[in-house]
Amino acid sequence: MIAVEMHFLPTVYVTCDLCKGKRYNKEVLGIKYKKKNIYDILSMSVEDAVKFFKDIPNVYDRIKTLEDVGLGYITLGQPSTTLSGGEAQRVKISSELYRKNTTKTVYLLDEPTVGLHYEDVRKLIEILNKLVDRENSVIVIEHNMDIIKSSDYIVDVGPEGGDGGGKVVCSGTPEQIAQNKESHTGKFIKRTLKKEKNI
Ligand SMILES: [Zn+2]
Repeated sequence: MIAVEMHFLPTVYVTCDLCKGKRYNKEVLGIKYKKKNIYDILSMSVEDAVKFFKDIPNVYDRIKTLEDVGLGYITLGQPSTTLSGGEAQRVKISSELYRKNTTKTVYLLDEPTVGLHYEDVRKLIEILNKLVDRENSVIVIEHNMDIIKSSDYIVDVGPEGGDGGGKVVCSGTPEQIAQNKESHTGKFIKRTLKKEKNI
């Protein structure tokens, strides 16, 4: 893409005329693996790429972690500037997971579940637990109840949102928070815990 600066207007991106947006010259595009060239591969979704590269561990391990953090739908060549904040955080988490020797690190995440579907939230919780299992600490700022109730320790900030908030209402394990009558979060945890017991 070529950026065209427009005065007083947002920059406009036009497809490069020379390569027609394929990023590489003819010689490079002529090189193929399993009938696909680099342009075909960069246009592939992570989900498809995981199947395509299943026999090449070096590539597979890396893209599998992207799928594991719920990014199976992005394409390999997607420019990082077009990722949402939540997606960018998940890309970062996936590269941390790939560095297999991470330990004793504190991860601070700001609402990583924004825009995630239920199933992907479940995957994300699994991954955060993996980081914790490797002796890391994960601090998450969240409204998502599934993340909150899966935590080892909760600090409930409130009691209300915006101007009515900013105070520590209570802190403790999900079970302890559920017992606290002042805590809105507590009420929701109690409800979810009850529901889960009925199932
Ligand atoms: Zn070009």
